Amino acid sequence: MTESRTAVVIEDDADIRELIELVLVQSGFTVHAAGDGLTGVELVREHTPEVITLDVGLPDIDGLEVTRRVRQFSDAYIVMLTARSEEADTLLGLDAGADDYLIKPFRPRELRARVAAMLRRPRAAAEAPVLEVPAPSTAAPAAQAAPAAPDASGFSAGEGTVYSHNGLTLAVETREVSLNGVELQLTRTEFDLLASLLSSGRRVRSKADLVAELHSDEYSVTGRVDEAEERAVEVHLGNLRRKLDDNPRTPQWIETVRGVGYRLAPARWNVPSIQ
Ligand code: CA
Repeated sequence: MTESRTAVVIEDDADIRELIELVLVQSGFTVHAAGDGLTGVELVREHTPEVITLDVGLPDIDGLEVTRRVRQFSDAYIVMLTARSEEADTLLGLDAGADDYLIKPFRPRELRARVAAMLRRPRAAAEAPVLEVPAPSTAAPAAQAAPAAPDASGFSAGEGTVYSHNGLTLAVETREVSLNGVELQLTRTEFDLLASLLSSGRRVRSKADLVAELHSDEYSVTGRVDEAEERAVEVHLGNLRRKLDDNPRTPQWIETVRGVGYRLAPARWNVPSIQ
């Protein structure tokens, strides 16, 4: 079994705080809880949790400010909890840096499902066994030099996969992304969305499809993806575009298929490589 994981709960309502603590303890976490933002930031600094649940309305600094402060030293998975329903832009905005959000009142199993999904996306290399870097020469699809295939090239399969598309490189195992050799700092959710699009190539992914992939299987089994969740995917992709400096009108990576969803933009195969 894996060792205990750590979570920090920042919530000023004692009843909700205890409920969240209970859910997380049942999910195998050691939980530290705070009733205000500043104490919460200190708990995060002290315990380096993997998961943080964060109420937006707190008595001192609000959840957005907590996120900004926490993001200066932590890449914990942050789930924002909010009573209001149309704040995806704010909650998941580029400055804020949260990974996910839940609208109150939420059912314990919703939080459990989000946490379960998070546990399937562990922090980069945190507990991963050392894997050998796959040798691309064994499969050698590149040796065929097929310019007619403008899809992203993924070497090998599974954890060791490395995607490369228009100067962007994404390594699944190490969760590293670089653009023209410069490393990009993405949130976990942004990384997962980008990896998902890269793995699908030119196949269009619906927003509901992307929501389902981000969340757990048990969550998607209900078949219900609400508008707020789809909106959250839009916001995450918007943030991703800003970080990539990708122009939606002439995209190099994320192409919007109006009314349907998203897919990988065509490969820039006619640009001569200068090396
Ligand atoms: Ca509150």
